[in-house]
Amino acid sequence: MSDVSVAYMFHAIGDVMPGDIADKHYAFSESKFRDFLAVVGYVSSIRDALQNPSHAKALCTFDDGHISNYAAALYMKEHGYGSADFFVNPSTVGQKNFMDWAQLKEISAAGMSIQSHAYEHVYLSDLTENEQYEQLYRSKSAIEEKLGSEVTIIAPPGGRFNAATKIAAQRAGYKTLAGSVPGSWSGETAYVRRIPVMQGNTVEQLASCLKSLSPHRFRLQAKYYSTYTVKKMLGNGVYDALRQRVLG
Ligand SMILES: [Zn+2]
Repeated sequence: MSDVSVAYMFHAIGDVMPGDIADKHYAFSESKFRDFLAVVGYVSSIRDALQNPSHAKALCTFDDGHISNYAAALYMKEHGYGSADFFVNPSTVGQKNFMDWAQLKEISAAGMSIQSHAYEHVYLSDLTENEQYEQLYRSKSAIEEKLGSEVTIIAPPGGRFNAATKIAAQRAGYKTLAGSVPGSWSGETAYVRRIPVMQGNTVEQLASCLKSLSPHRFRLQAKYYSTYTVKKMLGNGVYDALRQRVLG
């Protein structure tokens, strides 16, 4: 049914309660998530898609390691929907609102791919190359040591990275960077674009991204490039302050 492959970027699944650290604008309801899986039928982690590209159409990823991702992973496993990548920050694993190492170990054993979102949730592009290396290396080592599975993919927090990130990532032993630039995936190893999933998205909008002519995907791409220009002009700090005021 699909014409192109796309990678989806989810965050929290379900309702975000007051006091939860998750950004509610990026939280996707549990029922819509289940509908999405039913409509798409099968999803793959980027890790598994890189091993077996022909098998992969809808790639599924989750950023931040929110506690709600644990149930989502078990649901996927239970219903045979395939695998997903979970990009976690070792500095927040086990803290309030986040999965702990035992849960990550369990979903990893269930076939899920646990990958790096840097050691802390910081904008890599605000750091020097050595500081970025530190973030990437420490994260990869911590996850590999705790889970015994290889970490080869980095999703930079907030999708913010620069040329130094690519060098630091290579030095630290990563092979793939999962970004936040919307678009489709044609088997690239170094960079994987991802469709950000927002609270207000419909399952139809998400599924339509798998069509070669997808208005939703094109709109996201157009919006991304105009936002990108604004971010570049203002810098990360000012952009976030503005976004906060607009979204509330
Ligand atoms: Zn994040």
